[in-house]
Amino acid sequence: MAETPKNKIISVTTLLYSMTEALYMKDSYLKNWDAKVVSVKDDKYIALDKTAFYPKGGGQPWDEGYIIKDGEKFKVVYVGKFSGEISHEVEKPGLKEGDTVSCEIDWERRYTYMRYHTACHLVSNLLFRRAKAKITGNQIELDKARMDFSMEDYSPEKLRTYVKESNEIIKQDLPITIETMSRAAVLEEPELARLAVGLPKDLQEFRIVKIGDIDKQVDGGTHIKHLKEIGEIEIIKTVNKGKNNRRLYFVLK
Ligand SMILES: [Zn+2]
Repeated sequence: MAETPKNKIISVTTLLYSMTEALYMKDSYLKNWDAKVVSVKDDKYIALDKTAFYPKGGGQPWDEGYIIKDGEKFKVVYVGKFSGEISHEVEKPGLKEGDTVSCEIDWERRYTYMRYHTACHLVSNLLFRRAKAKITGNQIELDKARMDFSMEDYSPEKLRTYVKESNEIIKQDLPITIETMSRAAVLEEPELARLAVGLPKDLQEFRIVKIGDIDKQVDGGTHIKHLKEIGEIEIIKTVNKGKNNRRLYFVLK
């Protein structure tokens, strides 16, 4: 997988280092942490020195939760990345630059996205290995995921076979691990080297998400630690609009 810039799930923009320390990149299970408010715009756009709130990107929605100051809760309703800075939109004014705050993530929401995100990597791995299908887009939601891909020899039956095989791999409970690779090392791996063509020129290190030894992708998203956390993948719908526009919807059970 990860053959071309199109064949990956998280956009490279999410890999760019931000001014905010992105805690979710190192520990996707972090739910609570303390931080400092570094800037406030229009009373509601908050930048922190460090955050585990995932900003919308690569088909994965933003995290919700609370920023808490002296016991007062400010609900986080949107998180996005703008010019390398992670911005948290809160529901009401009151936070000031320099405030020390504690933060908490709506874990049920985030954990669901993590399960779907890793499931997307697994299914896209099978699509690529078995049918040379390339992912052209994807969207994770709380109750389903959508994957778009190009595929020469299409049939809904084949898709069901790949998902069945994905479910067999889940039973092996392979670990999902994060590694850092140098630009030179990424360029040496045939699959990643072709992807590297589209990587930001100023980055010397890349975050690699691995599923056991079967899948490896440059990726900036949040993932579960073990495949079994996915549960079971079930196709709910397939759509065929031509070889460059196939679509698969699935749910996790
Ligand atoms: Zn991903």
